[in-house]
Amino acid sequence: MLQTTAIRTIDAEQEKLTQLAQKMWDCPETAFNEVHASAWTAELLKEYGFEVETGAYNLPTCVVGRWGSGHPVIGFLGELDALPALSQKVQTTQEPECVGAPGQGCGHNLLNISALAAAVGIKAQLEEEKLPGTVVFYGCPAEEVLTGKVFMAREGAFTDLDACFAWHGDSVNRVMTGRHTGLNSAIFHFKGRTAHAGGDPHNGRSALDAAELMSVGANYLREHVTSDVRIHYVYKEAGTAPNIVPDKASVWYYVRAFSRPAIEDTYNRLVKVAEGAAHMTETELEIEFLGGCYNTQPNMYMAQLTYDVMKEVELPVYTEEELAFADALNRNSPNYQAVLASGKLDKGPIFQGMSGFQTTDNYGSTDVGDVQYIVPCVQVRTACWNLAAPGHSWQITACSGMSIGHKGVFYGAKVMAAAAMEMYKHPEHVARAKEEFDEKMKNNPYKCPIPKEVPIPQPQK
Ligand SMILES: [Zn+2]
Ligand SMILES: [Zn+2]
Repeated sequence: MLQTTAIRTIDAEQEKLTQLAQKMWDCPETAFNEVHASAWTAELLKEYGFEVETGAYNLPTCVVGRWGSGHPVIGFLGELDALPALSQKVQTTQEPECVGAPGQGCGHNLLNISALAAAVGIKAQLEEEKLPGTVVFYGCPAEEVLTGKVFMAREGAFTDLDACFAWHGDSVNRVMTGRHTGLNSAIFHFKGRTAHAGGDPHNGRSALDAAELMSVGANYLREHVTSDVRIHYVYKEAGTAPNIVPDKASVWYYVRAFSRPAIEDTYNRLVKVAEGAAHMTETELEIEFLGGCYNTQPNMYMAQLTYDVMKEVELPVYTEEELAFADALNRNSPNYQAVLASGKLDKGPIFQGMSGFQTTDNYGSTDVGDVQYIVPCVQVRTACWNLAAPGHSWQITACSGMSIGHKGVFYGAKVMAAAAMEMYKHPEHVARAKEEFDEKMKNNPYKCPIPKEVPIPQPQK
């Protein structure tokens, strides 16, 4: 099994890094509100000797740590935010720590320290071997609303990198080569005129009617888009009582697809649908554009390099208690019967092997896509929770607050560190990754999906 200074350093620093993950688990903060997570991360980066910038790229909770000099310059993407309403105790039945509170239901407390651990390991090895190169850790806000890294990109982040690594917790061990969708996110606000719904309805102009007619139009639009397009919406505001004609209504839409042109084309047509609905109902329309992100574009050269290294890094070994905990979580999962029938649980309740590349496309989105349109970048995923855990779930919150999550995170950090060290030591890898990237980006320059005039959200405290 591979043993390097970076890997040994990650092992030696596990306790300290786990403390940060635990603090973030105990104090989960939602998108753009990661005030504590950001401050704690900055503190630890300083302790490890990184040059630290807080409030980086005009995002109050963004923190960046740099160390070293010269090329290659390699980035590691940490994330800081938690999910609303996913509070959960470290136990195998659903019970929140605090009802309605946020929780680490996507494991970003782990994600943050995986990138940090990789950066710390690499710094130690570059120092020891007196190698040139710069390591950059990014503590990125607001991945869960898919705009943190996009705002960072708009403000100039990532352009100085030669390559970049991302990691995420998962139920298996793999390197992502399939795509995630990109998206646009906007709230359509309709404003009408209120009236007594029984007494003088002819005087009313219902904002809710406009919102509903927009939904009708959007649902007809579905037939006439490319097959990769997903359109989904929720009502944010839809009136107060049936006997009051609603003068305000709001619907929040996502438009997703596997390319920016498909997203933009569908989104522009959706805007026309909304305008039509406003016209029909004599209401006014205001569009609050929240942001957008690119689909992902994994760098295949880096994916192969990373997978080759992954096979050489020692896999985590689980205790009887951890396996029993995961087994109980599996049995309490809504996916249990399906996962059981698939045979995936035959080898144990936690994934313990290598599943190779994730080649299939994923219709979810991540703002890592924008980074992958700025520099060559790949995402590694390692098992951090029970095999049958649904995405964004209380089960993930539970595993992210205990040793099952911690073991997966350090395995992932070692894989990233070892793969990145190959690039520091052999710059030809950087050149090959860049060659592929340049070819893909030919005639297709990155254009930030969030226009300048959209303000960067501020912490709500
Ligand atoms: Zn998530
Ligand atoms: Zn996530």
